[in-house]
Formats: sequence, C-alpha cells, structure tokens
Amino acid sequence: LVPAGAGMGLVLAFVIVMLARRQLALPAAIRAGLRRHQFHVAYQPIVDLGTGKWVGAEALVRWRRPGGPVISPDEFIPAAEQSGLIVRITDRVLELVMNEAGAFLASHPHFHIGVNLSSADFHTGDLIERLQAATGRASLPPGSLMAEVTERGLLDKDVAGPILSALRGQGFPIAIDDFGTGYSSLSYLESLPLNYLKIDRSFTEAIGTGAATSQVVPHIIRMATDLGLQMIAEGVENSVQRDFLLERGVQFAQGWLFGKPMPFPEFVAMMDEQAAA
Ligand code: C2E
Ligand code: CA
Ligand code: CA
Ligand code: CA
Repeated sequence: LVPAGAGMGLVLAFVIVMLARRQLALPAAIRAGLRRHQFHVAYQPIVDLGTGKWVGAEALVRWRRPGGPVISPDEFIPAAEQSGLIVRITDRVLELVMNEAGAFLASHPHFHIGVNLSSADFHTGDLIERLQAATGRASLPPGSLMAEVTERGLLDKDVAGPILSALRGQGFPIAIDDFGTGYSSLSYLESLPLNYLKIDRSFTEAIGTGAATSQVVPHIIRMATDLGLQMIAEGVENSVQRDFLLERGVQFAQGWLFGKPMPFPEFVAMMDEQAAA
C-alpha cells in the first residue's frame, strides 16, 4: 500500500495526463469529424413576441460520432477556436444551412437564419466573400443570413469594425450575441454597425426570481433602446419571462417555450402547424 500523500499525487498525475491527452486528441477528432461529415446543424426558432410568428432561426452546430451521443458545441467549440478549426466548422455550417434551408429562404424573403461567427472568422481576410458565396450559391438576398458575433469575437476592433461595416453595407443583419457577459463599453458598441442585441440566457433566467441579476434585464433593455437596437431574448422557457420581456418592448425571443433546436425538416413542419393554428 502507498501512503495517502503519494496516492493523491498519483491520482493527480493521472488526471493531468488524461486532460492533456483530451486536449491533444480533440482537434484531431474534429478534423476527422469534418472529413467524415459528422457535423450537423440544428435550427431553433426565433419568434416575434407580438404576433407569435416564427421570423427566423439560429443555426446551432451539432457533432455526432457513429454510435455515440450528440456532442454539444460547448464541448468542442473552445478547442476548435484554439486550433483554428472553427473556420472550417463555420464553412461547414454555412454549407449545410444553404443546402438544407436555401430553397426555404428563397421563398420566405423576410426570414433570416443566424450563424455564429468566432474571432478567427474575422481574421481569415475573406469573411465577406465567404458569406457572399454562401448566399450567392442559392441566389439569396444577404438579409437571409444574420451574423451573430460575441463581444469576445469582436475584441480586435481594428479588424472586426471594418468587416462588420462592410457586411452591414452588403445587407447582412448583425447581432451582438451573449450580450452582457463580456466587458464591452457602451461607446464601443455604439461604434459598431449592429442591428440586434441578443439578451443572454443567464439574464432571461433571472427574470421574476428576485435574484440580483434580475435587475440586469431592464438595464440591458434601456441600453439597447438607447443604441437603437432591436432585441432578441435568449433562453425563454416560461410565460412569466415572455410577458416580462414583451411588456418592456423586447420584440423577439428564442427558447424552449417556443421550440428547441431541431433538424430543418422538423422545423418547417412545426412552422406550418404554427401558421395553421
Ligand atoms: P449561443 O449562441 O448563445 O446559443 C444559444 C444556446 O442556448 C444554444 O445552446 C441553445 O440550444 C440554448 N438554448 C436556447 N434556448 C434555450 C432554453 O430555453 N433553455 C436552455 N437551457 N437553453 C436554451 P447550444 O446549441 O448548446 O450552443 C451553445 C453555444 O455554442 C452557442 O451559444 C454558441 O456560442 C456556440 N455555438 C453553437 N453553434 C455554433 C457554431 O456553429 N459556431 C460557433 N462559433 N459557435 C457555435
Ligand atoms: Ca448565438
Ligand atoms: Ca447567445
Ligand atoms: Ca448564450
């Protein structure tokens, strides 16, 4: 038997080796997953709170390895970002969105699908061309594709600022994502050509709970209104949250109350049911 201290050391060493192996193995597995077409897109409805109509969707990447469970993006996006592979994931998502939803978008001119962009996407030098190529292939107006960018993704303002201005000039709507979870100042946001502000789920969750963070949503709403931005609340799970947001002028929302992320054929079927009801 080893003394307790040495045992702990061994356990610690084992954990460190396993973690390190995982870090090294993940990019290789992502690369293989891209080659083997293991990445899919799930679509979550974005609804107009006033009318209940589905006005858009967010494209959310999913990874399914044969025989395995679906791996959530939170488990591989960080490694994809660190390794630069995120650019290839973005391109795959764009390709899938156009293949699956291109015809639908062409026949629904006011509908838009949001795609998540990472900081690395702004550093490829051809982000505008990549987005134009995606919509161009299906002859769609740029308004069909919304760019969702996080505060983290916009840290390098000298790079991101001019690209966003060009995208906006081309007609691509732009949303600032996960708003309130980063450190951007008001003047920073003011200088960016944004259309939408997405209220992060952590703040929506706090609505009606009396928690200190429940004070944050009204504050964010005031900021967005001052900036002239339309709002999309994330993570709306119940009618208390919905009514609170609606009463305070938040026009759009997504969340389990309306629909979970789903494959595109299911999305279209549910949207038809919704319209018929
Ligand atoms: P996000 O952009 O903030 O996306 C919203 C997340 O909230 C999604 O998680 C969605 O499934 C989840 N969600 C939506 N409504 C509800 C709700 O009512 N309740 C709860 N509990 N959750 C809700 P998901 O799909 O796991 O994605 C996590 C994050 O991964 C995304 O957060 C985004 O930052 C990132 N991500 C997803 N797809 C992509 C992608 O294609 N590219 C990049 N760069 N990042 C992606
Ligand atoms: Ca997003
Ligand atoms: Ca978000
Ligand atoms: Ca979020």
